[in-house]
Formats: sequence, C-alpha cells, structure tokens
Amino acid sequence: MKDKYDVIIIGAGPAGLSCAKVLAEGGKSVLVLEKNNKIGLKVCAGGLAVRAEEENSQFLKNTDSAFCSINFYFSKTCRKLTKNSPIIATISREKLGEIILEEVSKNGAEVKTGIEVKEISKNSITINEQRVKFDYLIGADGSNSMVRRSLGIKTRKMITTLQYVIPQKNQKFREMEYFFDSKTINNYFWIFPHKDYTIVGGCYCSKTALKKSFNFKNIFEKWLKDHQIETDGLKLESFPINFDYQGYWFGNKFLIGDAGGLASGLTGEGIHFAMVSGAEVAKKVIDSQYNCPEISKILKIKRKHEYLHRKVNLLNDIFPNFGFKIISFSLKYKWFKKYLLNFLFSFK
Ligand SMILES: Cc1cc2nc3c(=O)[nH]c(=O)nc-3n(C[C@H](O)[C@H](O)[C@H](O)COP(=O)(O)OP(=O)(O)OC[C@H]3O[C@@H](n4cnc5c(N)ncnc54)[C@H](O)[C@@H]3O)c2cc1C
Repeated sequence: MKDKYDVIIIGAGPAGLSCAKVLAEGGKSVLVLEKNNKIGLKVCAGGLAVRAEEENSQFLKNTDSAFCSINFYFSKTCRKLTKNSPIIATISREKLGEIILEEVSKNGAEVKTGIEVKEISKNSITINEQRVKFDYLIGADGSNSMVRRSLGIKTRKMITTLQYVIPQKNQKFREMEYFFDSKTINNYFWIFPHKDYTIVGGCYCSKTALKKSFNFKNIFEKWLKDHQIETDGLKLESFPINFDYQGYWFGNKFLIGDAGGLASGLTGEGIHFAMVSGAEVAKKVIDSQYNCPEISKILKIKRKHEYLHRKVNLLNDIFPNFGFKIISFSLKYKWFKKYLLNFLFSFK
C-alpha cells in the first residue's frame, strides 16, 4: 500500500468496484478497501433488472436465470406481468463482484480485502496505524456507511429485510414472484430463483415499523409456513437498505450506492443504481465540470417510486389492502401491465 492515492474507495460492492473501474481507466491511482475477506458476501436477492441488454451484456452472460414474466400476488389473486424478452435476471453477488473486479484489476487499481476502515480525517484514513492520504475519498460502504456518518449525515429512511437462501435440492422454485398483503405487511415478500438455490425474503419500510407494533420475524415465519416453504436449519439473514438520499458530493468526499441512499424506496432495487452512481462519480472526479446526468435519472426514478409507495401505503392505511386492490384491479388491463413494468423497471 502506498502513502498517497488520488482516490481511496471504501467498500468493494457494485458501487465501489464500478467507480474504481472508471477511475483506473481514466489513469487515476486508486485504492479500494473492503472489510470482508471475499468480495460479494452481501445479503441480497441478486435480482438484476434487464433495462438495456447491451448495457448489462457482460452480466447477462453470467446470470443464474432470466425471467420474461413475474407473478404478482395480491392476497390470493395472481397477476402475471410478461414481456417478450427478459425483464429480470438473477445473479450471484460473488459472480457479479468477480466480473467487475476483473475489469478493475486489469486497469491497475489496488483492491485490498480484509481491511475495515474505522478512522477518517479530512485528507487521510488510518489503517493499522498507517496513514494513507487521498485527494478524494469515496464512501461506497453500503447502508451502514461510516463515511456517511463521518460527514454527519443521518439516515432516516431504511427498508428492513429478512431472507433465507434455500438450496435448490430442498425445494424447487421456478418463477419469480412477489406477494402483497397489507393485512400482514405494507411492503412485500419475494421468491427469487437462482441456479442452485432460491432466495426467499420479505421487507418493510422502517416507517411502517414505527407506526405499528409488529414483529416482522414472526410475520415472515408465518408467511413461510402458509406458503409451505421449509427453512429448517437455514440461516436467517438481514440487512437494511438505505434509500435516504441527501446528496452525493461533499467537497473532496462522495457517497455512492447505498451509502448515498440511492436505492429505490419502493422496490429495494439498488445494484444497478450503485453501479451507475459509482461510474458517474468517477467521471466527476476525472472532470470536475461533469454534472452526472445518470444520477439525475436515478433520482427521478426514485422520486416516482417513492411517491407511489407513499400513496399505496396511505390507501392501505385507510382500509387494509385498498391500495393493493386498486393495483390488482388495474392489472386486469394489458395497458396497465405494460405501464407498471415500465414504471418499475424503467426500460430503455
Ligand atoms: C435482503 C436484500 C435483498 C436485496 N435484493 C436486491 C435485488 O434483488 N436487486 C437489487 O438490485 N438490489 C437488491 N438489494 C439492494 C442491493 O443489495 C444494494 O442496493 C447494493 O448492494 C448496493 O451496492 P453498494 O455497492 O452501494 O453497497 P454494498 O453492496 O452493501 O457494498 C458495500 C461494501 O462495503 C463494505 N464495507 C462496509 N463498511 C466498510 C468499512 N468500514 N471498511 C471497508 N469496507 C466496508 C461491505 O463489506 C460491502 O462489501 C437487496 C438488499 C437486501 C438487504
């Protein structure tokens, strides 16, 4: 490790690695620090929306499964959203990390794993008593970002999640499915099949938990039982998703991906937004005049998603399932199905 880098990135998730790739290609000296010993050890369902095939082609070659339809369940009613090409694919987070890491290493950025950054000052960080200076520091350290905390930015809007990774040999799941029922939860549960395993999870927005005194673990376990999904002996995983965006540029420091609150507060989708924000901020570091138009697009999608989320929850609060009933009813119509798919995934 050198004593000084143009850019230090904390966190080697999709945001940090995508940022490092563009910076290294642009000739900057880059150090990426990751606290885990391996890249890709992340609690995540691994769903990648297929927005533009050419944009995601390197990942699409490595996906576990790709889906041209998604089942939306509103209580017992199933509405199927279909497209004549893949809507969403699943990929292992380790594989995703491997693919971007290969590009990063090719261009000479240094990536060090097993190093947790705990101390940040204005122009340097301290690791194992070594002081390493930077011109720019990028916080790509996820939803519990210490870079964000060091900037004094509070996080008020989080999605709380629970999930199990179920080996395919135990039970077979073939379809991508979402389940909505506001009598149990104001967000949703999901089933995301991969090649050798399936991820089954659920989430709710932290505000819901403040309003109602409910035990999400018990609700999730009951839901699993009702759907005859066996999880005996499997590890229950949990991690928050930060969607509280409050800016990405703070002098010589930047926040990208979940550290910047750039995930969707409706769908919890964050991988694509993390990669895009990483690449955009890298371009900004290379050229200070660059104004990050792709981040503006992410913010527009977030605003739309979070507006719908608030409205549906409001209707559900007035009368249980009212908001979901309106969506379920509208999904009888082809035009609404098409509209909702575009609304959720913003296809190009
Ligand atoms: C249960 C669950 C399911 C999800 N499913 C999906 C999905 O299907 N599709 C989707 O698009 N999104 C999904 N998301 C969201 C998605 O996982 C995130 O939006 C995405 O991982 C954000 O990428 P990131 O690079 O910003 O952060 P992360 O992927 O969280 O990476 C941050 C990295 O920083 C490291 N780090 C943290 N602190 C330090 C430190 N102090 N020093 C060094 N390293 C540090 C961490 O170890 C981690 O590797 C899901 C999230 C959860 C919790």
